[in-house]
Amino acid sequence: MKRLFSPWRMPYLGRDKAAEKARGCVFCLALEQNDSAANLIVHRGQRAFVILNRFPYTSGHLMVLPFTHVEQLDGLDEATRAELMELMTTATQVLGTVYKPQGFNLGANLGAAAGAGIEEHLHLHILPRWAGDTNFISTVGETRVLPETLEETWQRIKAAW
Ligand SMILES: [Zn+2]
Repeated sequence: MKRLFSPWRMPYLGRDKAAEKARGCVFCLALEQNDSAANLIVHRGQRAFVILNRFPYTSGHLMVLPFTHVEQLDGLDEATRAELMELMTTATQVLGTVYKPQGFNLGANLGAAAGAGIEEHLHLHILPRWAGDTNFISTVGETRVLPETLEETWQRIKAAW
């Protein structure tokens, strides 16, 4: 996947990782709370859940995660891995309905060396894509190209799920 130039991710890159670690895993903390809207969780399944990326590359950037706090796929049982794939499938259907993208990037970064921001808790990314979306961003340059807020994204995806 081409890396998007995304200056709005600076707060993410500049965040205090040590302080975050001390508070605990952000995904586990979000899951423990009942308020799905505040924690940007759009779906809770049997063994896995779907959450908006708080620092999205584009509107509709979702992540699918197991409830279990593990780093690797082989740390999960088969039923959980199967549910992850089912949720990935539903996520593409929902994003297809809401955003009408021309394509998707699906994938995971396992380990910090592979680019994982939060390597301790496995998460699978789903990004809706449009032809030329990276070019568009580099053309307008240094502008956050998100046509809606995270709250709006959450409402739309939650309603369509
Ligand atoms: Zn966790």
